[in-house]
Amino acid sequence: MEEKKIPYKIYLNESEIPTKWYNMRADMKNKPAPLLNPGTLEPMTAEELAPVFCDELVKQELNDTDAYIDIPEEIQKFYKMYRPSPLIRAYFLEKALDTPAKIYYKFEGNNTSGSHKLNSAIAQAYYAKKQGLKGVTTETGAGQWGTALSMACSYFGIDCKVYMVKVSYEQKPFRREVMRTYGASVTPSPSNTTNVGKKILAEHPGTTGSLGCAISEAVEVATTTEGYRYVLGSVLNQVLLHQSVIGLETKTAMDKYGIKPDIIIGCAGGGSNLGGLISPFMGEKLRGEADYRIIAVEPASCPSFTRGKFAYDFCDTGMVCPLAKMYTLGSGFIPSANHAGGLRYHGMSSTLSQLYHDGLMEATSVEQTSVFDAAEQFARVEGILPAPESSHAIRVAIDEALKCKETGEEKTILFGLTGTGYFDMVAYEKYNDGVMTDYIPSDADLEKGFAGLPKVDL
Ligand SMILES: *Cc1c(COP(=O)(O)O)cnc(C)c1O
Repeated sequence: MEEKKIPYKIYLNESEIPTKWYNMRADMKNKPAPLLNPGTLEPMTAEELAPVFCDELVKQELNDTDAYIDIPEEIQKFYKMYRPSPLIRAYFLEKALDTPAKIYYKFEGNNTSGSHKLNSAIAQAYYAKKQGLKGVTTETGAGQWGTALSMACSYFGIDCKVYMVKVSYEQKPFRREVMRTYGASVTPSPSNTTNVGKKILAEHPGTTGSLGCAISEAVEVATTTEGYRYVLGSVLNQVLLHQSVIGLETKTAMDKYGIKPDIIIGCAGGGSNLGGLISPFMGEKLRGEADYRIIAVEPASCPSFTRGKFAYDFCDTGMVCPLAKMYTLGSGFIPSANHAGGLRYHGMSSTLSQLYHDGLMEATSVEQTSVFDAAEQFARVEGILPAPESSHAIRVAIDEALKCKETGEEKTILFGLTGTGYFDMVAYEKYNDGVMTDYIPSDADLEKGFAGLPKVDL
């Protein structure tokens, strides 16, 4: 009876958009390990981080104690352009699967950048502007982060230099053009415009690049150009903090209708959407107020959680960034050309890594073709054309719903639908033509990546 009252889309009012971000770390007993200075192996101080990141973002990065942080009014205003995002009951998918499970998804693809990344881009551009900077540099893989950041920078009138992984630069010319339309400059990486890029090109001639390379280039440019800082679209604590708007809105919407998820699922590249989606739920779990099953989904071709090592590692290939303790495949690991570009990072958020290490969440990996099976099944009944990254979460949500069909359990499943896949039609084409392949690295492949881990004894 009750169930009938739940609309297909649960929209919140504008006044219900969060005015504070929630910082999960404040409620964690075991805090994520600090970033280390690669030279001294001592925790990075705010002074040491200041040449790389904006001051206010450094504070957020190092803040393990404040549970709530005010969202500045200008950022709240921008959020109103495309938020609140809908929480959707997947009635059509449930019917197609003939499952007793109740499936919900939080849809973050309703903005021009096409993903959740805008939630953090706007915050990072705001703090750069407030500090009086001229601009920011960044890397982008598939292009979603670069697109989001260009939109945010054009809104605040600051410059945006994007280093785009070469293979994506060539394969996704339209993404590049969206960024240029918003005023950003886009350079394929590795490039010969930086020292680290030249070095990588000399060592790996003909390389099509990786996120790790592009990060090294962007950091070099930020630290050697006056009035610039580097910004990153995932992995960092500050990014998870900004993405908490996803989870906070979801929780408010669910509470309104008395819905409590049993299982929460999200894809994990660097961990920002998943970290954001789960944050208020994980907060309850950490404080002992409620329990949820939380599942991170990663590609079998880049299995940081499920086959990586929990160790200090470089965040980039050029080894210029601080060391982070995380589940990692090694900064030298270059994953195969999976079509979910946003999930091809060698490491994982140190906050999620700690939660996973402490048994507070699970992780699983899925193969590419099974992900596209799920993507098409979903698109055909729910209407939305999902991003390949997001479809990793759809795969596992469907699998869990099918398990409920076997057991007759009426579980409530929540997953994050992080974005749309309009720029990924080459991948869909491969799938539709039946020529998509699955690549799973061998243990020997992974050993090569682990061999490059820095020797840090702590
Ligand atoms: C970047 C991206 C991801 C993965 O990044 P996280 O930081 O792990 O969230 C997932 N989905 C989409 C659509 C993306 O653009």
